[in-house]
Amino acid sequence: MRLVYHFGNGRRGGILNPLEGDDFSMPYLRLPGLIDVHVHLREPGGEHKETFETGTRAALAGGITMVLAMPNTHPPLIDSASLALAESAAAARALCDYGLYLGASGENIESGAALAPRCAGLKFYLDATFGPLHIKDLRTLREHFARWPKDRPIACHAEDRTIAAVLTCAQLERRSVHICHVSRADEIHLIRDAKQAGIAVTCEVCPHHLFMNIEDDMKRLGAGRHEVRPRLATRADQAALWANMAYIDVIATDHAPHTLSEKDGPNPPPGFPGLETSLSLMLTAVHQGRLSLEDVVSRMYENPKRIFGLPAQPDTYIEVDTDAVWLPTHRGTVSRCGWTPYDGWELRGRVERVTLRGRVVYRGGTFSGAPGSGQNIRSSAVV
Ligand SMILES: [Zn+2]
Repeated sequence: MRLVYHFGNGRRGGILNPLEGDDFSMPYLRLPGLIDVHVHLREPGGEHKETFETGTRAALAGGITMVLAMPNTHPPLIDSASLALAESAAAARALCDYGLYLGASGENIESGAALAPRCAGLKFYLDATFGPLHIKDLRTLREHFARWPKDRPIACHAEDRTIAAVLTCAQLERRSVHICHVSRADEIHLIRDAKQAGIAVTCEVCPHHLFMNIEDDMKRLGAGRHEVRPRLATRADQAALWANMAYIDVIATDHAPHTLSEKDGPNPPPGFPGLETSLSLMLTAVHQGRLSLEDVVSRMYENPKRIFGLPAQPDTYIEVDTDAVWLPTHRGTVSRCGWTPYDGWELRGRVERVTLRGRVVYRGGTFSGAPGSGQNIRSSAVV
């Protein structure tokens, strides 16, 4: 099915005020509920940064109705018991639909594959990251690749030369692999060439690597706040990502909330929040003529759904005022972390209403869904 979207609805500029009442007489742009395949919701163990409730509220405010949550929590999600902790927390509190990744570790090579039906996918941390799941040896990588079901996704935090190692392992097992948050020219060029050679690789890029770089944004953000993994790259890297948009399958936020006191402290943890701003950043690029609306919908809905084998969300859609201009602020942030790297940026296009399975769950800054109304996308699994 080919979807046709009309961008722009005749309303002009101005900073949008919160909606009053139910004035939806204006024809807002209607899009599918978006999917973010890479978020950190910090539960269990980091609830002062984010929870399934606060993180899924942030998702809905950004037009995202399905999130895949990463396993580098405390405890990390590496076995049935830790997975059950996150499953019950999400079942009690999530406001949008979700899936949970299993973290690959040296300890769950034998047991991990049996948990695949309960998981969104298997996540590897192969380069410097936040949390305890860093894998350094080739054997663990290969053995997981050999065992994990071929019809279930593997997602890798792999940078630079590590991407080549991952592609080799995937090729040897005749399976696909998804590379997370690609940020550098050399990386997107390798993935482009691998795709052209017929290798089954997909990749995601984060808005912060498309819209920020180390030369222009490190000083503005400040010493601790610019810390993110992979790091902000150079202007040339940023330009290479845009130039190779055709090879980028997915836009994912890597929403990684930490509090401002942590970011401004002596050991600033890496990560940016991103759920509330990703669609508006991409729509700003559409407004600037850098992308088409179809480019955005394919990378924030169609490709994530296909690559990760995600279920349809019936009667689920978002309505967007494509002409609204708004400024994200630290104070206006829904995420518990309470800040945004885009404070004061002028963004074009704002989510006005979100409908999940026939029920309006977000409208003009107000949430009406109940915590726990989100569903586990692998809910057929026996918990
Ligand atoms: Zn991440």
